[in-house]
Amino acid sequence: MSNSLLTVDEALDQILGRITPLGLARSSLLEAAGSVLAEAVASPIDWPRFDASAMDGYAVLHHDLTPLLTNQPVTLQVVGFVPAGQHVETPLRAGQAYKIMTGAPLPPGADTVVMREDTDEGEGQVRVRVAPKDGRGANIRRQGENLRQGTLLYPTGVLVDPGLIGLLASFGRSQVAIHRAPRVAILSTGDELAEIDARDLAPSQIINSSSYMLAAQVSRAGGVPIVLPLVPDVRESITAALKDAIACADLVLTIGGVSMGDLDLVRAAIEELSDQVGFWQVAIKPGKPLAFGSVGGIPLIGLPGNPVSSFVTFEIFVRPALQKLLGSHQLRLPRVMARSTKALEAPRNRTLYVRGKVFADAEGLVFDADLSQSSANLLSVVDIDGLGVVGPGQQLNAGDWVHVDLLRSPRVR
Ligand code: AMP
Ligand code: MG
Repeated sequence: MSNSLLTVDEALDQILGRITPLGLARSSLLEAAGSVLAEAVASPIDWPRFDASAMDGYAVLHHDLTPLLTNQPVTLQVVGFVPAGQHVETPLRAGQAYKIMTGAPLPPGADTVVMREDTDEGEGQVRVRVAPKDGRGANIRRQGENLRQGTLLYPTGVLVDPGLIGLLASFGRSQVAIHRAPRVAILSTGDELAEIDARDLAPSQIINSSSYMLAAQVSRAGGVPIVLPLVPDVRESITAALKDAIACADLVLTIGGVSMGDLDLVRAAIEELSDQVGFWQVAIKPGKPLAFGSVGGIPLIGLPGNPVSSFVTFEIFVRPALQKLLGSHQLRLPRVMARSTKALEAPRNRTLYVRGKVFADAEGLVFDADLSQSSANLLSVVDIDGLGVVGPGQQLNAGDWVHVDLLRSPRVR
């Protein structure tokens, strides 16, 4: 155990270094949106599957259009009609044309499609006015032109988004392999805490809010939260509760009891159970105390009790861990530059994470720090879009650029 301050990156690297993605699950395509792909996707087909017309018009033999070069008229006999969804087997012969619609398979023998607009749109006979400027092969989508069968399209780790679901559906796939969503047990500790439905609070009691806040943060990050009952500041109770949590979860979050105070029993309990432990003072404000352990491969992360610190340390340390469990390659929050509306100043030796709103306009992004930055004020985490990141000792004036870690999409002013 060391008392020196770790940087945010050092602490995060240590956590991520001990986390491996969860196993695979089969998901129905309808339920897979938002998961992370756990199989590489290759094209099972040539795409398009067949030579098809790219235009409404007439399928012809290019050779038959030769007279147009010397301004002689060309009239062809229309021998059939191929709408999309049908195909013909009788080959096209010299002097003939098939009327054809966009997406319909090219009749055998045909090598060119003349657009409807370049003809008189005749039924029994069609007069062609101009030869297609692309010459032989014009207006045809060739089989495999977009995609060859077997081509690797997407590796594992890609987000399953609506487009990918559409692509998989086009391959006739109703199931897809994804990484299982992590179950995250949330354990708040402290004698002063009361359950949310408690009546007649003693003057010294406060309602457990952080378990609910963190449950929502877990859901937002793609995990499945499990809120466990409150645990008093009793070492044996904490150890027992941790064991229960480990049994039902892929990741355990504790809240409170990890700082240097007398009742900081959680770190001791994590230490007792863990085969790997790290207790850190991280150079971060709000935050600072953080614990990490691992029991039989289940990671335990101990967050500081102060609700604003819990919120921020979750986004900085737990969210990337969840992303890694989920199999994603995008672990960190996206970091952008924005102009700060306010002056911001970090302490000499700690990185400051400022809670605020992010506005997008044609000029770029603007970061508007919340007025209240007290780490005890829960209002500072309500309705925010990002965390402004101000490095140790850094002083920014209003109008300066600031790094912002985005929690969600910026808003429009
Ligand atoms: P601790 O880290 O246990 O010393 O807690 C620091 C502060 O956060 C104390 O004022 C606690 O009452 C408060 N706190 C701890 N856990 C929670 C929680 N689950 N909900 C609301 N406040 C909490
Ligand atoms: Mg406590």
